[in-house]
Amino acid sequence: MTDLTRLTADQVARGLSAGEFTSVEVTQASLDRIAAVDGDLHAFLHVDADGALATARGIDDRRGKGEQLSYLAGVPIAVKDVLVTQGMPTTCGSKILEGWIPPYDATVTAKIRAAGLPILGKTNMDEFAMGSSTEHSAYGPTRNPWDRTRIPGGSGGGSAAAVAAFEAPLAVGTDTGGSIRQPGALTGTVGVKPTYGGISRYGLVAMASSLDQAGPVTRTVLDAALLHELIAGHDPMDSTSIPEPVPAVVAAARRADVKGLRIGIVTELGGEGFQPGVRARFDEAVELLASAGAEVVEVSIPSLNYALGAYYLVMPSEASSNLAKFDAMRYGVRVPPAGVDDPSAEQVMSSSRDAGFGDEVKRRIILGTYALSSGYYDAYYGSAQKVRTILARDFTAAFADVDVLVSPTSPTTAYPLGEKLDDPLAMYLGDVATIPANLVGIPGLSLPVGLADEDDLPVGLQFLAPQKADDRLYNAAAALERLLEDTWGGTLLAKAPQLEDVR
Ligand code: GLN
Repeated sequence: MTDLTRLTADQVARGLSAGEFTSVEVTQASLDRIAAVDGDLHAFLHVDADGALATARGIDDRRGKGEQLSYLAGVPIAVKDVLVTQGMPTTCGSKILEGWIPPYDATVTAKIRAAGLPILGKTNMDEFAMGSSTEHSAYGPTRNPWDRTRIPGGSGGGSAAAVAAFEAPLAVGTDTGGSIRQPGALTGTVGVKPTYGGISRYGLVAMASSLDQAGPVTRTVLDAALLHELIAGHDPMDSTSIPEPVPAVVAAARRADVKGLRIGIVTELGGEGFQPGVRARFDEAVELLASAGAEVVEVSIPSLNYALGAYYLVMPSEASSNLAKFDAMRYGVRVPPAGVDDPSAEQVMSSSRDAGFGDEVKRRIILGTYALSSGYYDAYYGSAQKVRTILARDFTAAFADVDVLVSPTSPTTAYPLGEKLDDPLAMYLGDVATIPANLVGIPGLSLPVGLADEDDLPVGLQFLAPQKADDRLYNAAAALERLLEDTWGGTLLAKAPQLEDVR
């Protein structure tokens, strides 16, 4: 019998509706796979076997009765632990939320449940989504399935590793500065950050509200499109949610035609500091697109040189405000100060936050509080917001000449665990290519385009499109995916020798 964990979400959906297997069988296969490999990988913080199987049984019953079901009904999914799930723990990778069981569902969670996808569990992440390696999780790092001595990327390393290691066909991630796309690149999976406002942020525990966006983590472009359409759409519970209809991303992924498409290579996102093997795979992929009829030009956006600096002011500023609610009064742990008989509320708050937050979170709260302080607000936060405006203007100008922009997703492949843990600035530099999309609210997609020669590790290519033109990403990426698979004679993950021992 076929190994059900190897199927794409689209193949599972078709198999379920053709009656080739049941949702209980597919869900059990994922749970068995998790039991077999996750002790080592640590992609999951919480596995809900009973809940997932109960959903699967319900869907099998309804299908048996001939009910009309959602296309992805019965296909198991993993959810990043930053989206709240009623009755299921949500920690955001932090000790401060240890043991918290949310009393409500995020809109994304509610849509997944309504469509009948069994939720396998919650995936590991950097604490409050701050980081690029998943090493800042208070519960220990996730390992990269391609090489378990290496990081899977972050902050959503858990979702990416779960999909790459065939523990789940689908996962949801969140992307504030690259946390879906960069782990996608480092694990050989597809990751999409939709247009800001395309997917509701209601119930997504906020890091930086003007940048946060949930999106799909999958093994194919079509799977990402299917999940995108399922979780997207206007939500009155999120005031920044886009009221217009969701772009037709599934149709675009099926179209997969780049003939006449104008593609711009971003000069500033690819030169110095980019690993040679990353550049080589990127250049070849662009050539493939050109050979299929795309018009490729080079585009310079000089203001991009200020994006990383602006992000690391805006993001901590918003986070310092958002994280103020973790005050030991309303959620999670309360740690009374040692040796104080009758502590004040302020003392309890201080000792709880000291014990509950990790170093990276504290670092960013301090940075953000400083950038927002009265004497420095204009110099730091104010200047960063101006950079954001200039960037948005420059992207709009660039998109007047091209349909999509491309760059490598990450300057390097997956690096060894521990390598950048004590050097926050070095880690921040890894976000240089993904951060601009969040600052200007445009959609981005990372597609695996091969392995770097020097280390045989996955390389991702990022597509960027104008706001609300998410369909362009899916069209172009699906076309490139097809061209690459013709070259490889199969998918990248299926051919990965490094995955043999976790198979
Ligand atoms: N790596 C980036 C950071 O540390 C982005 C994180 C994210 O997208 N959640 O802020």
